Amino acid sequence: MRKYKDELKNQLAQLYCNCCGKEIKVEDGMIMEGVFPAHVVWGYFSEKDGESHKFDLCEACYDKWISSFRIPPEKEIENEFL
Ligand SMILES: [Zn+2]
Repeated sequence: MRKYKDELKNQLAQLYCNCCGKEIKVEDGMIMEGVFPAHVVWGYFSEKDGESHKFDLCEACYDKWISSFRIPPEKEIENEFL
C-alpha cells in the first residue's frame, strides 16, 4: 500500500507490505528495500473483468509466497546489476 506526498502521485511518501503490514523504508521517494510491486488488470475472461489490483509485498512475504508455489519462479541474473 502506497501513500504519496502529492495528489498526482509523483513522490512516494510511505510504503507498506500489503501482506504483513510492515513499513518498507522510503527515502526521498526512493524505495530502499527489496519489494515486490504487483499490478494486474483482470481481463474479459476472468471473473473480475475490468478490475485493476495493485499491492506491494516485502521481500520476506514474497519469499514465503513463492515457497508455496509448486513450480518455482524462473530466475535469471539481470545484466543491469552486473
Ligand atoms: Zn510483508
